Amino acid sequence: MSSDKDWKSKYHESLDQMEAMENTWAELDDLLRKTIRRLTITAKGMNPELDNVLAQIQQHARNKEDEQIPHDLEKLTQLINRMEDPVNPGQDQDATDSAHGARDYALKLVGRLKLNPQLQVKFEEFQNTLSSLDDDQSLHQLASIINELLQDETSNHELVREVLITLIEKIAVTHGNTKNLDQLKIKLEDQTEISDWHQYLDTIISEIRVIIKGINHEKIELEGLVVDVTKQLAEISNTLSDEQSDSLQGRKESEQLQTIMNQGVEKIQLQVENESDIQVLKTGISENLSSIKQGVEDFVTKDAERFKKSEIRNKKLQQQIQFMEEESNELRQKLTDHRQKLMFDTLTGVRSRLAYEETLEQELARWMRYQENFSFAILDIDHFKRINDDYGHNAGDKALKIVARMMSDHIRKADYLFRIGGEEFVLLLPKTSLEHATPLVEKIRTSVGDSKFHFKKTKVKISMSAGLTTVMQDDNAESIYERADSALYDAKNNGRDQLIVRSY
Ligand code: GH3
Ligand code: MG
Ligand code: MG
Repeated sequence: MSSDKDWKSKYHESLDQMEAMENTWAELDDLLRKTIRRLTITAKGMNPELDNVLAQIQQHARNKEDEQIPHDLEKLTQLINRMEDPVNPGQDQDATDSAHGARDYALKLVGRLKLNPQLQVKFEEFQNTLSSLDDDQSLHQLASIINELLQDETSNHELVREVLITLIEKIAVTHGNTKNLDQLKIKLEDQTEISDWHQYLDTIISEIRVIIKGINHEKIELEGLVVDVTKQLAEISNTLSDEQSDSLQGRKESEQLQTIMNQGVEKIQLQVENESDIQVLKTGISENLSSIKQGVEDFVTKDAERFKKSEIRNKKLQQQIQFMEEESNELRQKLTDHRQKLMFDTLTGVRSRLAYEETLEQELARWMRYQENFSFAILDIDHFKRINDDYGHNAGDKALKIVARMMSDHIRKADYLFRIGGEEFVLLLPKTSLEHATPLVEKIRTSVGDSKFHFKKTKVKISMSAGLTTVMQDDNAESIYERADSALYDAKNNGRDQLIVRSY
């Protein structure tokens, strides 16, 4: 009887173990789903194809269409491998991609220039030529477009200056300024005649090259991380499917054991009913019991092996998941850092032009919804060119830093200050009426005017002019800027060092 109790308890034990294994599997499955979701959020926007695959995975994971996921992961791995392998013989996918990237970039840049109507027509003609380009000539093409655009306008120094400066500013908006571009811009702003604009253009193009190179480098680094994470995902998926097939095998074997036992018991019952010879009955029962015992032993042995394997696998899975989480976090951190860098102006530390464009967009959208007061001011340093001319650019830079810091010290927590151009700042004042904004802007403006600056032991007075307005019905980012700018223009014409408020 004791052996009967033995195998029964062993059998139950093994069933418990199987249940425990299934619970672990469910937990890991849940973790995998979470990680996929997180990866999808992190990698979004890096590559359109990648976005598609990730969206698919997310959808399948959400709908619990598990059978699709290994297939999705396979696609993801292939895609990532393609991204990872820059030299792809016979296909040269990457070269085409980078040419497309450069071309799109060039198109975007030129497309954002402020052009007069004739130049606009010319530009559109060139745009068509550019669109049909598919080698890495885009940057040369960009140079030649601007060449051609400016060809007939060489004597129009104002226009040449404006096109080149706009180009530099647009680069700064999307990718942050470089020191060379900064200097170039100052030089351009300082010159009344620009006869050597070919040279300027060359420098701009080579700076764009440097920027693109930097972006590619960052892209490769980030892609490397995505590749790692994806490989981990694929490995986890493999491990999980091993686990699943083992657990299926376990279930099959336990069913087999059940059959062996049922058959054995049935046989014993038949023997008991039909066999009258006690000796034969004894032998028969004993034989059947041993085959049941054998079945149970086989099952228990295999089950113990499976359990051991499963434990090893669980450990490995935990490590894989931990590693992947770390990589995902690193990836997310890098993306956040990169964005953060672009949001602040390197010279003054106040918010950048890119931040201005994004924040204004958001605040205008909020205004549409709630229609709360919202004021907008542009502040510009008066005769700043003179500081550069008289004391040098380093002194100019130093002055910019101090002015920015003073202004920052005087704004309220809810307000935003941006440096949107050389010595031009924008102040966004959400939930503030013109009536309340006027003394605020005035206080900020005079805080600069009242302080003493020293350059080469000389006291220098720095003043600022400002244009202030408020958001009105049907305003957009351009219209509100233009209204404040026209107020600023009047402030300059009126003798500078003053604020003009425009409410119409
Ligand atoms: P206004 O009172 O009409 O605003 O005169 P302004 O001289 O301030 O304006 P203008 O637009 O004619 O010249 C702006 C000057 O700002 C040109 C350039 O020398 C200088 N500048 C622009 N960005 C920088 C910068 O980052 N550093 C330095 N040092 N100077 C800059
Ligand atoms: Mg100025
Ligand atoms: Mg200015």
